Amino acid sequence: MTKICVSACLAGERCRYDGNTNEIPEIRKLVEEGKAVPVCPEVWGGLPVPRIPSERRGTSVINREGTDVTEAYMKGSRQALETCLKEGCQTAVLKARSPACGHGRIYDGTFTKTLIDGNGTFADMLEEHGIKVMTEEEFIHAK
Ligand code: SF4
Repeated sequence: MTKICVSACLAGERCRYDGNTNEIPEIRKLVEEGKAVPVCPEVWGGLPVPRIPSERRGTSVINREGTDVTEAYMKGSRQALETCLKEGCQTAVLKARSPACGHGRIYDGTFTKTLIDGNGTFADMLEEHGIKVMTEEEFIHAK
């Protein structure tokens, strides 16, 4: 059976910027059963938990204090991509609106809760490699 890739915070890991999780019991169960691979591009890129929240601004990622954290996002996204490719994942269920994991709609980089069309850095890389990406919201509604 082909494994799917999932955002680690959806599987119950406390890797969110504020140290919390976005757990969805069904996704956690998939990981526990060995059917899903959890990845966190932000933490894998070397960012701490908790951390200052970031948003994508064009091709860059900037945190709320104005620091450019693009390098950490790209490094972590590449590592997570390599894991997904190694595990043979063809589909990913990722956290909506995240600057790394978001798909379709993300925050616009102004920290005003304004959404624009676009993907997070990791979702972009997955799509470039032919992996189908959906948000946890689409995953739940598809049930
Ligand atoms: Fe969750 Fe992805 Fe953000 Fe990590 S990078 S906390 S997996 S949304």
